[in-house]
Amino acid sequence: MAQRGLKDIKGEYDCVVIGAGLGGMTCANSLARSDKSVLLLEHHIHLGGLAAWFKRKKHIFDVALHGFPVGMIKTCRKYWSKDIAGRIVQLKGIRFDNPQFSFETTYDRDDFTQKLVNHFGIEPERVEGFFDATRKMNFYDGDTKTTRELFEEHFPGRSDVHRLLMEPITYANGSTLDEPAISYGIVFSNFMSKGVYTFVGGTDLIISLMEKELEKNGVDARTKVLVEKIATENGKVTGVVANGQLIKTRSVVSNANLVTTVLGMLDNGALSQAFRKKAQKVRINNSSCQVYMGIKEGEKIDYIGDLLFTSTASEFDAEMLKAKDPTSMTFSVYYPASRPGHDRYTIVASMNADYEDWKDLPEEQYKADKEKLIETVLDRLEKYIPDIRNKTDHLEAATPLTFERYTRHIGGSSFGTKFEGLELAADLPKEVPGLFFTGSVGIIMSGWLGAANYGVIVANNADRYLETGKI
Ligand SMILES: Cc1cc2nc3c(=O)[nH]c(=O)nc-3n(C[C@H](O)[C@H](O)[C@H](O)COP(=O)(O)OP(=O)(O)OC[C@H]3O[C@@H](n4cnc5c(N)ncnc54)[C@H](O)[C@@H]3O)c2cc1C
Repeated sequence: MAQRGLKDIKGEYDCVVIGAGLGGMTCANSLARSDKSVLLLEHHIHLGGLAAWFKRKKHIFDVALHGFPVGMIKTCRKYWSKDIAGRIVQLKGIRFDNPQFSFETTYDRDDFTQKLVNHFGIEPERVEGFFDATRKMNFYDGDTKTTRELFEEHFPGRSDVHRLLMEPITYANGSTLDEPAISYGIVFSNFMSKGVYTFVGGTDLIISLMEKELEKNGVDARTKVLVEKIATENGKVTGVVANGQLIKTRSVVSNANLVTTVLGMLDNGALSQAFRKKAQKVRINNSSCQVYMGIKEGEKIDYIGDLLFTSTASEFDAEMLKAKDPTSMTFSVYYPASRPGHDRYTIVASMNADYEDWKDLPEEQYKADKEKLIETVLDRLEKYIPDIRNKTDHLEAATPLTFERYTRHIGGSSFGTKFEGLELAADLPKEVPGLFFTGSVGIIMSGWLGAANYGVIVANNADRYLETGKI
């Protein structure tokens, strides 16, 4: 188990990892496996970051376990353990219900092709052409096409098809039709290879199994430790200041928010003007609201799908998707089988949200707005579970302020930064030797799979620096 606080830490580490999200944890684990001494510092009481859970009465709520691509199995097997990988299974019931279409899909290439051809009446060659185009997309091609242009090229004027293709991805990483098509193509292709997957046993189980691996591999993991500063000498990283204490280290990997890391944790002199300016231009991604519903002991819910994308909006609109009075929301239904040994049902409604809509509200207004959100969600859910109000014994809402408080992400960002963050993160070790970043950035490197894979890539870079002094 990770210890609380900094008692009995060593005099110096090869690497200090700031933040124990999936990126930070995977990075710490990979570095420790290659015999580096690693200190992992997390300000919250749990490891996991946005891969979070919490308990209320006898309910356990998962915050961000709604679905990830099949690639997570390989990543967990290779960089964590066979046991963790072996508990990942497919979610078969992905359901859509909106004014343009209503059906259930397994959300993989075969079923999607079927739906596009039979339900939407698109010619098979056109569908194939779209799949091929997204699969061939490569980050290094430098293609400036937007997702909107990509959709128009393949399915001109078909706002229903655009919605089918886009709505789940907007939920999965906050992207809009005006982002680079590459950020869409990579995530979409990842899901299309084999559908949507989940971890049986819940977030608490996967994080505790990861924690055991970290311990086995010698990572010194600490909770309730806030990193305030990254110390440098002659331009290079020499330590961190955490809970007011200087800790020496040869390298730092930050899993905290990218912009906070660059603009908030480094001394003024550590960055060139040009780099600082570049960092100031990086846009933060939007946040989320959620409503958590715990179902009474002994109550049952008939199957309504595992993931239910609902909307009353006439067409897809990324702005409307994050409106404070939501027209679109996703329901994740956790049946007892998703957490063996625990016979309760829980439901989590997720909505994209804007920090600006929730910040600076007087306390009473904030509480009232959360209540209103809960009511809106229950009204919507009644369509699928008519007696939902009688079945629940716990209702709670989270807003962008909640996400900000627990993860310290600017604006409670759910998916780090927009696309330009990728370049800043990649250039960081050149600007400040010994400092690396891993975490949700650039849309592509977000989500459970993106964060974990990015953690491995950055661990390799930090390892090379530690071995050779080269970036
Ligand atoms: C509502 C919601 C639903 C989601 N659903 C899914 C989903 O179904 N599937 C999916 O794949 N992805 C989902 N995601 C996204 C996914 O959870 C994240 O992209 C991923 O977990 C982020 O990992 P990360 O490595 O970037 O770190 P984060 O999870 O952002 O963690 C960063 C960590 O750094 C810590 N930290 C920050 N500053 C400091 C400091 N100064 N000192 C010490 N510690 C610090 C934070 O406390 C945190 O633990 C969802 C996200 C949200 C918000």
